[in-house]
Amino acid sequence: MTKSISCSDAGKDCGWSASADSEEELMAKVTEHVLVEHKEIELNAENISSIKSLIKES
Ligand SMILES: [Zn+2]
Repeated sequence: MTKSISCSDAGKDCGWSASADSEEELMAKVTEHVLVEHKEIELNAENISSIKSLIKES
């Protein structure tokens, strides 16, 4: 099971996407990307849970 996420699904004008084998690994990539490219997004519990709701499994 591969988990993936893309910024465009979050309504961002950004072509970034990532995939990983686990949610933990994927969220680590998301956190890194947000800190570099989307400094306006605060990684609080509410935003993290809405980011997690965008994760797709395939
Ligand atoms: Zn992005």
